Amino acid sequence: MKKRVVMFVVVFLFLAGIPGVSRAAVTEEMVRRAWNEVVKTAEMKPLPLSIENNTIPNAWVTNGKSVTVTTGLMNLLEREEEIFGVLSHEAGHAKLNHYASAVTSSVGIGVAGILLDKVIGGSIVGDLAVNVGSNLASAGFSREKEVEADDFAVDLAFKGGKDPTGIYTALERLAYYGGKLQPSGFNSHPPDDRRLLHVKNRIHSRDPNIKITETPKPKQTKEK
Ligand SMILES: [Zn+2]
Repeated sequence: MKKRVVMFVVVFLFLAGIPGVSRAAVTEEMVRRAWNEVVKTAEMKPLPLSIENNTIPNAWVTNGKSVTVTTGLMNLLEREEEIFGVLSHEAGHAKLNHYASAVTSSVGIGVAGILLDKVIGGSIVGDLAVNVGSNLASAGFSREKEVEADDFAVDLAFKGGKDPTGIYTALERLAYYGGKLQPSGFNSHPPDDRRLLHVKNRIHSRDPNIKITETPKPKQTKEK
């Protein structure tokens, strides 16, 4: 009996170690569970969550009435705490009424937010430009709102007793995704270190002992 349990665990670990069989990506179940926890912790209306089949990693709130996560984001993230962080960021936009001033009222995370400098610098091309551009155009986007939503995400993790480093490493992955996509264009613009530093400081202001395991930078991204 005991032997069978051990065998099961061994097989599971074996499968989990094979890339492609169970790469550390976020599943739909994890997304929905994290969203339920965010809603509960933030004491907000349970907005419907949908998953969009799109390789661009992104998440956004529409009209403060629904939340969308792309499969690209699920594939990019590796821990449930990270999707919890991203969804907390989105909940922050909804709770802080960020959509109210926007025209089409869609406020997103990460790719749009973290790459703002690059958009302004005109160095984004292709799908990402279209995606980010339309997000920015329709969002009434501002860096200030992104910072507020990031802070909200960190605070919500503490409130819910979750790992607050999830939002941090999620933002790192989003930043480095851009680096991987456009190595030549992006190398002149380092990932948004200022935003990441702000999130890190927020975490450590709540608890200086929390260890943050940095996500390795993609090889083609130059060090600052
Ligand atoms: Zn945002």
